[in-house]
Amino acid sequence: MKLSSRVAKIKPSETLAISAKVNALRAQGRDIIDFAAGEPDFDTPVHIKRAAIKAIEAGFTKYTPVSGTNELKDAVAEKLRRDNDLEYKRSQIVVSCGAKHTLYNLAQVLFDHGDEVIIPAPYWVSYPDIVALAGGHSVIVDTQEKDGFKMKPEQLKSAITKHTKAVIINSPSNPAGAAYTPEELKAIAAVLLDKDILIISDDIYEKIYYAEFPFTNIAACEPKLKDRIIVVNGISKTYAMTGWRIGYAAGPEEIAAAMNKIQSQNTSNPTSIAQKAAVEALCGDQKIVDKMVSEFRKRKDYIVHALEQIPRVKCFSPEGAFYVFPNVSEIYGRSYKDRKIISSTELIDYLLDEANVAAVPGVAFGSDDHIRLSYATSMKNIEEGIKRIKDAVSKLEG
Ligand SMILES: *Cc1c(COP(=O)(O)O)cnc(C)c1O
Repeated sequence: MKLSSRVAKIKPSETLAISAKVNALRAQGRDIIDFAAGEPDFDTPVHIKRAAIKAIEAGFTKYTPVSGTNELKDAVAEKLRRDNDLEYKRSQIVVSCGAKHTLYNLAQVLFDHGDEVIIPAPYWVSYPDIVALAGGHSVIVDTQEKDGFKMKPEQLKSAITKHTKAVIINSPSNPAGAAYTPEELKAIAAVLLDKDILIISDDIYEKIYYAEFPFTNIAACEPKLKDRIIVVNGISKTYAMTGWRIGYAAGPEEIAAAMNKIQSQNTSNPTSIAQKAAVEALCGDQKIVDKMVSEFRKRKDYIVHALEQIPRVKCFSPEGAFYVFPNVSEIYGRSYKDRKIISSTELIDYLLDEANVAAVPGVAFGSDDHIRLSYATSMKNIEEGIKRIKDAVSKLEG
């Protein structure tokens, strides 16, 4: 059968593929420690679940306006005002089925064949494929570990061409957990001030944050750019609600209207019940977030330290999100029996086969020198998993 050239152009999400593999191995009885999952291990808070149950019982189970209910848009606007010092009207907000869907809609309304999108690497796995599906072209800017995995203004400047349509900023980032300071964002903004380039700010890890300096969005740093910035955020990571599928964008009215139009011809509205739960998440008790973040922080401190104890492994200390992105390149070239490890993919396969530990190869995020481990799993699993990795790595010789 001949499928579309569109689908041939993209690869399946590597992180979701590994999760599927872990599930299959577990079904065979293998005891796998999973560092691959990209979602909080906590349960969705009870008051949020209750709001959804109440919505079902009240019969709030029909189509809603395509871009979300006014109630939820108002909750999003209030959140952006309260947390980010940003003012948006209802007409500038679009709610979708997760931030991934938000980004997909955005790419569909913004990019044409030949348009270039600047993406700092290491990047979230889905950006290049979402851009490719829209016909755009990703321009990858390799950041340096010594620069904290952050794009320098000079790097941005030299990546810009007359075809540049947008740049994606993800802070704190997946996979490295890199967070930009307000000053760094100002310097990035300065490069863009006199250019006709859009900025997509993926703030999904805003609340899972450990840095000394405050979280800032580039729109708040440089108000002159606000009419070219699209803020993307969601409830998946902050409130342990990945399965509910609610994300949103706030930006120029024209872009919001176009996203609404695209969404009206694909998913229609996001789930009515999940929208009610999202209102409760955004407006209800926020202390539950602090609780989850303090647990993440403890695990982060432990895992960074434990990885550093493994010979030939170096680990950047993340400032946000729930991943570590250790540099494992000094392991490359070493072997166990007749198995030689020379890439992140081979190391990940080796760890799964020999240590029963799942993680994601860095190459999926644009850096083959690293692997990504999620610490959104219990401390007990982290301790056991790191021990297994250490044993497997120490068996490598050469
Ligand atoms: C998880 C993630 C998303 C998508 O989250 P949704 O569950 O679709 O809301 C977007 N960007 C980054 C960087 C992520 O890690």
